[in-house]
Amino acid sequence: MSKLFKRTKILATIGPSTNSKELIEEAIMAGVNGCRLNCSHGSDEERDEQIKWIREAAEKKGRSVAILQDLQGPKIRLGMIRDNHLDLKKGDELILESNPNFEHEGGLTVPVQYNLAKKVKPGEPVSLFDGKIKATITEIVSDTAIKLEILNDGFIMSKKGLNLPDTDFGGDILTEKDLHDIEYGASQDFDYVSLSFVQSASDIERLKQLLLSFGSTAKVIAKIETKKAISSDENLEEIVKIADGIMVARGDMAVEAGAEVVPIIQRKLIALCRKYGKLCIVATQMLSSMVDSPEPTRAEVSDVATAVIQGADVVMLSDETANGSYPIESIKEMKKVILYTQNHSKVATISREKENGVYSAISAAAARLAEKIDADVIICQTASGATATIMAAERPNLPIVSVTANPRVANQLALIYANSAFVRPYSEEFGFELAKELKESGYLRTKDGQKDLLAVIVSGDRDKFGTDTIRIRNV
Ligand code: ATP
Ligand code: MG
Ligand code: MG
Repeated sequence: MSKLFKRTKILATIGPSTNSKELIEEAIMAGVNGCRLNCSHGSDEERDEQIKWIREAAEKKGRSVAILQDLQGPKIRLGMIRDNHLDLKKGDELILESNPNFEHEGGLTVPVQYNLAKKVKPGEPVSLFDGKIKATITEIVSDTAIKLEILNDGFIMSKKGLNLPDTDFGGDILTEKDLHDIEYGASQDFDYVSLSFVQSASDIERLKQLLLSFGSTAKVIAKIETKKAISSDENLEEIVKIADGIMVARGDMAVEAGAEVVPIIQRKLIALCRKYGKLCIVATQMLSSMVDSPEPTRAEVSDVATAVIQGADVVMLSDETANGSYPIESIKEMKKVILYTQNHSKVATISREKENGVYSAISAAAARLAEKIDADVIICQTASGATATIMAAERPNLPIVSVTANPRVANQLALIYANSAFVRPYSEEFGFELAKELKESGYLRTKDGQKDLLAVIVSGDRDKFGTDTIRIRNV
C-alpha cells in the first residue's frame, strides 16, 4: 500500500506553460503538491487568478496543495530585449543602461533594471542568463551605464538575471519591489513565502517581522544561493534555525560560488534541515533538458534520485513547468523517479543528528514503532503542524496522514515529507475517525489478505503537553 504514496514532494513553478485552470488541474493530478509563483515575472493580477485556479483545482481533487510566493530579493535583471533574443559573440562590448526611459532597439546597448554604475568596478566578473554568458566589466560609461566585454558566444533574453559574485552591495537585501510584494502577498492566500539571495539570518528575521506586521500566517523559506550565505557552516546553521525551511537554489549558487560546491552544500543543507525539523527544497535544473525534450537525461534522473535518497522533502521544477514544452511530462517523470527510488532504497544515507526534547523523542519512537510492527500508516493529530513536521524529519518508511482543524496548516503540510494532510473539525479522536473514513473511501488500503488497517496514531492534549501519546489501532 505504501508504495502508492510518493514521500518526496513536487513543487512546480507556474508560468506560461501551465497558465490555465485546466493545466493546473492536470499538474496536480500528475503529482504536484505545491505551486511556486515567482514575483520576478508576471503581474499581481496574473497571480490573483493563478491562486484562484490552484485553490479550485485542489478543492475539486480533494487535495491539499501549497502555494509559495517567491520574492525576487536583490536580483538584478535585464529589461525587455527586442524580439526577446539578442545574439552575443566573444569579444562583443555590451552596454547595460539603467535609464528607465531607454528602450532596446536591437543593438548592443540593453536595458537593465538596476543602476550598477556606482556599485561595480572595472575588472569585476559578471554572468548573465544563469551563467550562460560570462563577461568582465571594462568601463563605467555614464552615471547610469556600464560596459562589459563578453567572454563567450551565446544569447540573452528579456528579464534574465545577472550575477556579480565579487560586487559588494552591502546592507539590507529587501528591495522596494519586495516590500510591495510582501504587502500584496499578505493579503493573498499564500502558504509559504521564499526570499531570494538571503545572506544571513537577519534577512529572514526582517521578513518574518514584516509578514507578522501585515498579519500573514505564511511560513518563511530562505533561498540559499549567495556566496555570503554559504561562507561558513555557522552562518548556514543560523539561517536554517530561524527559517521554517530552505531552498537549495542551485542555479544562482553555481553561478555565484562555482558549480562544484553545490552538491556538498545540498547534502549539508538536507542534513541541517532534518536536524532542526525544517523543510528542505532542492531546486533548479532537475529535469532541465525536458524544457525541449520529452525525455530526461540519465544525469538528471540521477540528480532527482540523489535528492530523494538524501532525504529532501521537496524536489522542484522551474523552467520545466514554467516555460517548457513538456510541463506535464516533466511532473510525471519526476514522480516516476521518486516512487522507484523510495521503493528500492532507504532514505538515511545521512544519519540524523537530533535535537533533544519530547517532540523529537516521541516522533522518533513512533516512526521506529510503526516500521517494526509493519504498520500501514502513521496518523498525526496536529494543531500547528509541528508534530507532523518533526515526525517527517524521521523520514519514516511509510505514509504519514495528518489531520488538523486549520486549512492553512494542511496546505503547508502538503510540502512536508511523506505527509498527506486533511482538514477536519477538532475532536480527541479525529485521527482515528479520519483513518476509518480513508479506509472506507479506498484512499488507504490494507495489505493483501488483511482485514484491518494497522495505524500508529500520534496525538496530544492541545492544552497540556503538546504531543505525548502514541497508540496502535486496528482500523
Ligand atoms: P529564479 O532565480 O527566481 O528562479 P528565474 O528567472 O529562473 O528566476 P523561474 O521561476 O525559475 O525564473 O522560471 C523559469 C523561467 O520561466 C523564467 O526565467 C521565465 O522566463 C519563465 N516564467 C516563470 N514565471 C513566469 C511568469 N509568471 N510569466 C512569464 N514567464 C515566466
Ligand atoms: Mg534563483
Ligand atoms: Mg530559476
